[in-house]
Amino acid sequence: MEEVLICPYCGAPLDELPARCTLCGNTISLEPWEVVRELSTEWEAELLCGRLRSHGIPAHVLSQRDSTRMLTVGALAVVKLLVPALYRERAHRILAGQDGE
Ligand SMILES: [Zn+2]
Repeated sequence: MEEVLICPYCGAPLDELPARCTLCGNTISLEPWEVVRELSTEWEAELLCGRLRSHGIPAHVLSQRDSTRMLTVGALAVVKLLVPALYRERAHRILAGQDGE
């Protein structure tokens, strides 16, 4: 799947992040990252992550399984879906299914 990043301000395609948008001139940084969803399973998180990425958002899945391998059962297991704070609004719209696409 081809993933094209887009500017959170004007929607122009970006080659990489962090970067300065050539269209609107805004500087787009990846940090700080912000949690937009907490999920109980990794595949759910990966699914949403892929969805955000297909909309040009640099999403990232943070699983706690690496450090707490034995505690991945039930409600204690939390997988976090992160996006840069600049993309928060856009990400929430997409996750809510209101992206109009
Ligand atoms: Zn821009």
